[in-house]
Amino acid sequence: MKNVRTRFAPSPTGLMHIGNIRTALLNYIFAIKNKGTCVLRIEDTDPKRNFDPGAEKIQQHLSWLNLTFQEGPQSGGSYAPYFQSQRTSIYQEHLDYLKEQDFLYRCFCTAQELETKRQRQIAMKKPPRYDGTCRKLTFEQVQHKLAEKIPFIWRMKVNHSQKISFNDLARNTLNFDLKNFSDFPVTREDGSFTFVFANCVDDIAMNITHVLRGEDHLTNTVSQVVLVQAFGKEVPTFWHLSILCNKTGKKLSKRDQGFSLEDLKTAGFLPEAICNYLGIIGGSFENEIMSLPELIEAYNFDSIHSTSQVRYDLEKLTWINHKWIAQYDLASLTNLCKPYLEKEYNISQLSHETLQCLVKAVQTDMQTLQDIVKLVKFYFNRPKITKQELSTTIDSVKIDNLISMLTNQHGSWEHFSTYLKDEAKKHNISNKELFSSIRILLTGNSKGLQIHDLFVCLGQKEFFARLTTTQ
Ligand code: GLU
Repeated sequence: MKNVRTRFAPSPTGLMHIGNIRTALLNYIFAIKNKGTCVLRIEDTDPKRNFDPGAEKIQQHLSWLNLTFQEGPQSGGSYAPYFQSQRTSIYQEHLDYLKEQDFLYRCFCTAQELETKRQRQIAMKKPPRYDGTCRKLTFEQVQHKLAEKIPFIWRMKVNHSQKISFNDLARNTLNFDLKNFSDFPVTREDGSFTFVFANCVDDIAMNITHVLRGEDHLTNTVSQVVLVQAFGKEVPTFWHLSILCNKTGKKLSKRDQGFSLEDLKTAGFLPEAICNYLGIIGGSFENEIMSLPELIEAYNFDSIHSTSQVRYDLEKLTWINHKWIAQYDLASLTNLCKPYLEKEYNISQLSHETLQCLVKAVQTDMQTLQDIVKLVKFYFNRPKITKQELSTTIDSVKIDNLISMLTNQHGSWEHFSTYLKDEAKKHNISNKELFSSIRILLTGNSKGLQIHDLFVCLGQKEFFARLTTTQ
C-alpha cells in the first residue's frame, strides 16, 4: 500500500462534539496503524459562521485528547497552509484547469428561480436536481448575460450517462448512476469556492489516500469522485462512518447530554476515557479498557462492518471513565481533582499528601472528577450526629456505652484498634454496629470509607475530636 495519508478536516463553526472527535480519532488511529500520516486541516471558508477564529479551541481540544496530528497548523508540513482560508490561489488554479478542460459552465439562475424549480420537482415527486437550464445556453446568450453583469456561479458538467464507483472500507465498492445527480456548483456568487470543491481539491493537493468522515457526506463523495476523475487523479478510499445516535435512535444533537467536549471536560471526563469509549463503540473488542496505543494495536480495519446506527451511551462512557479513574496514577489524579476542590472548598492550607490521601480514599468510588467534591465533603464539614441518628446504626440501648468508649480517645491506630475490639466485646457491640457508628460520626454516612483510611486522612486530632460527641 502506498504511504497512507488521512485527514481530519473540521469546520470551526461550532463546538467540538463527540461525533467529530470520533472522526478525528479514527483518522488518527487509521494513519498510525498503517504507519502513515494524519493531517489536520481547518475548513474555515465561511467567515460568517467562524465561531472559533484560528481554530484555537479545536486545536486545544485535540491536544487535550492527546491526538497529535503530524501535519497541521501547529506542526506545519510540506502541504501548508492548513487553513482553507489561506488556500484560495490553489483553488483558483484548479478552477482554471477545469475551465480550460471545458468541465465547467456558468449558471445565471437566481436562488429564487432554483428554489421554485426545486419545489416543482418535489411536488411532482421527482428528486430535486438542477435542470441544466444554463448548460444549454449558447455562446451569444452567455456573452449577453455577462454584458448585463448578471451574477453567476460555475457548475460542473456532470456526464449523466456515466456510472461511477468508489471503495468504502465498510461497504466495499459503492456504485452510483450519475443520471441521478445534479451539475453541482463549484463556486458561489461572490466568487468563493464551495465546500465540495475546496474539500476535494485539498484532498488531491495534500495527497490524501483515505477519507474517513461521517456518512452524511456520502452524496458529496459522489460529486467529489466526479471532480477527482476530471483532474485525472486517483480516487481515495473512503470510510463513511455511521452517524452517532442518541438513546432514542435520533441523530445526536447539542440537546443531548454529554454531546459537547467542553461539557464532558467540565464534568470531569478524562481524555483517555473519551478516546477509549469512542474507539470501541460500533466495534467489538475483547478488552474494553484500552489506552490509545492499545486501541491502535487492537483495531482491525479489515473487518469493518457498516452499521446504520451507532448509539452514544453516556452511561457506558461514565463506566469507562470510572475504570480509568480507578487505575489512574494517584499523584496525577490528585492534580486533576484539585481545580474541582478549589472551586468548592478552601484547600490552600492542605498539603499535596493530605489531598492525595483523600483522593486515594475515594478513588474507586469516583465516576467523574467532579465526584470528588461530594465524596470528600465530610472532610471539610465536620458532621453533627445526634443520638437519634446513631440509633440507625446501633441498638439504642448500647448508644451511651458507645459514646463513652469513644469519647476523649487518643494515640496510634494500632493502640486504638485494639482498644476498640476489647471495648466492643465488653459492651456486646457487633463489628457492624461499631464500624457503621464510627463511620457516621466521622463522615455523616454509615457506609463508605474504611475507618483506617479516615484515620489517615483526617489525622489523629480531628479523628478523635469527631468521635468525642457530647450529644
Ligand atoms: N469540514 C467538513 C465537516 O466538518 C469536513 C468533511 C470531511 O471530512 O470531508 O463536516
